Amino acid sequence: MDCDDYLNNLASLFCDSEMDLEKISKAVYQTLDAIGEDPNREGLVDTPKRVSKAYQELLSGYRTDPKKLINNALFDVKYDEMVIVRDIEFYSLCEHHMLPFLGRAHVAYIPTKKVIGLSKIPRIVDMFSRRLQVQERLTQQIAEFINVVLEPEGVGVVVEAMHMCSMIRGVKKHDSRMTTSSMVGVFRDNISTRMEFLNSISRGAQSLHF
Ligand SMILES: [Zn+2]
Repeated sequence: MDCDDYLNNLASLFCDSEMDLEKISKAVYQTLDAIGEDPNREGLVDTPKRVSKAYQELLSGYRTDPKKLINNALFDVKYDEMVIVRDIEFYSLCEHHMLPFLGRAHVAYIPTKKVIGLSKIPRIVDMFSRRLQVQERLTQQIAEFINVVLEPEGVGVVVEAMHMCSMIRGVKKHDSRMTTSSMVGVFRDNISTRMEFLNSISRGAQSLHF
């Protein structure tokens, strides 16, 4: 995949319109009314506006410009060992219930010619997690982005998360942890590369809890 095409496509999808906070506020007002609440009582009167602001923040990934994100952060380096950034905290909203899922992402790649500034990797995770998501797609999108932008020998992404929608509703499994992974290039083809990554992220790892 051509990097410019990929980034243009990603940018055009998400960066050209403002979130309609007024419309969200109206919908929240109607939701409160539909629940049987009084949307005009003191505690709720500002809630529609607050909820719209909260969505603006929680879903800010749609308006993160991927080109700006990587601008001036790609470096030509002769380095061909594995780069690992582990325990990147993230939160997201599941697209089925609009309830939070949150946890940690671990990202690794083996550069060929380019590396990306270390602080950018958590921002890539944020760009894709602060959207309505499913964990599997989030995992793949992070891996794909790094693969297209850096053209590395391979990328590995592991995401561990807890899902509110299954913890507090439905079957109420309070310990609803899920782990997903996306392995590209040598991380897929070479078992010792994959094991090096997986061993590294499990070393001293603490289980997710609240
Ligand atoms: Zn859900």
